[in-house]
Amino acid sequence: MAYDYCVVGGGIVGLATAMKLLEIQPGARLVVLEKEAGLSRHQTGHNSGVIHAGIYYAPGSLKADLCRRGSKATKEFCWNHRIPFETCGKLLVATNELELQRMNNLVERAKLNQIEVERLDAADLRQREPNIIGVGGLFVPETGIVDFKRVCEGMADVISKAGATIELDVTVTAISESDSAVKISAGASEWQATKLIVCAGLQSDRLARMAGLKTDHQIVPFRGEYYRLPSSKNDIVRHLIYPIPDPDLPFLGVHLTRMMDGSVTVGPNAVLGFAREGYPKFSFNLHDVAEYSTFPGFWKTILRNIQHGLKEMKNSIFKAGYLEACRKYCPSLEIGDLLPYEAGIRAQAVMKDGTLVHDFLFLETARMLHVCNAPSPAATSAIPIGEMIAGKIVGREPTDWLKNQTG
Ligand SMILES: Cc1cc2nc3c(=O)[nH]c(=O)nc-3n(C[C@H](O)[C@H](O)[C@H](O)COP(=O)(O)OP(=O)(O)OC[C@H]3O[C@@H](n4cnc5c(N)ncnc54)[C@H](O)[C@@H]3O)c2cc1C
Repeated sequence: MAYDYCVVGGGIVGLATAMKLLEIQPGARLVVLEKEAGLSRHQTGHNSGVIHAGIYYAPGSLKADLCRRGSKATKEFCWNHRIPFETCGKLLVATNELELQRMNNLVERAKLNQIEVERLDAADLRQREPNIIGVGGLFVPETGIVDFKRVCEGMADVISKAGATIELDVTVTAISESDSAVKISAGASEWQATKLIVCAGLQSDRLARMAGLKTDHQIVPFRGEYYRLPSSKNDIVRHLIYPIPDPDLPFLGVHLTRMMDGSVTVGPNAVLGFAREGYPKFSFNLHDVAEYSTFPGFWKTILRNIQHGLKEMKNSIFKAGYLEACRKYCPSLEIGDLLPYEAGIRAQAVMKDGTLVHDFLFLETARMLHVCNAPSPAATSAIPIGEMIAGKIVGREPTDWLKNQTG
């Protein structure tokens, strides 16, 4: 069958894009193709479940704008579709003078990003969170939690009710673009679409190359490993507890996260993965490792971040180091409190020169748009991301933001 639009990828970015396309163009013939037997089985289904407020991002940047709008849009979507969420607020905890200074910079950033924050001293902190210690803290009331898998189910429902199709168990194996259409193949099955949008997360670079695009980057998997606290400690914190991030590092640091089921997780760290989609510890995929280890950008980024990388690796293997990172602000935690929990894997785009891509990366042709990097907080920002991509695809919205990001 011939479609107006084909979206590859049943994670939150693909689904939000499909939903917005159907909203802008009701009645469009649209198909979503997903290789797994269910939706949101990769990054979207293995994350911290935090609806970020967006205090970290450079004021005026696309990431800051999308996050602020995404936080509001996600909560509205949940509200309208009866998906449970909680605006529980987050506390960033400074444990020394340097972190206090960094915290002050974040206060400025929050102001510029128009996000409400409340500064706490050590005593306020203790009163608000009796099990947390620090020299100061920053409370972000708007931060929330949700199960993004539930959000995806809600989006899938909207897509189906709009008359579009979601096909599972379809692994796209070939893409070819002609002047009039794009042909998408999965083994012997074929689809034809006027426009194709690829939101394939951990496989995004491979699909871009499969479609004949030249890429200057490669996806390198970074595991985000978590532990879960025993249920007896579910009340250890009232809010989400985050360290003050090191501005030189791309990830936010190990945090205590209250989940929608009432449990509390600890994590994630950021360790080099040896498989793009292997979730158990020590998963190894020869093809994945061979591919990145022959990519020059990989070695450049590893050498640049060697010290931090080795520390993360050590803490991943030995729980004691991981525990130390959390005990800095939650001293009552003990090694026996760190129970197993499934890891997530970040699709981190790395450029040939070794730069880690921190923002969105898109590649475009006349009939295709490939989302090549959709970093955290892309789950929070998915609805406005989908809106922008959809606007671009149907040619309605100003597209300068996207042109600027096009590789
Ligand atoms: C550990 C961790 C913690 C995070 N925490 C947060 C958080 O708290 N808040 C937040 O906002 N963001 C968070 N993020 C980021 C967020 O989860 C991701 O940015 C977002 O889920 C990306 O969505 P996606 O749709 O681009 O990718 P994915 O969810 O990975 O979806 C891509 C889909 O494409 C499919 N696919 C791939 N190849 C093919 C193919 N050949 N054919 C068909 N289908 C294919 C895959 O099966 C997959 O379903 C976190 C990420 C990680 C890893």
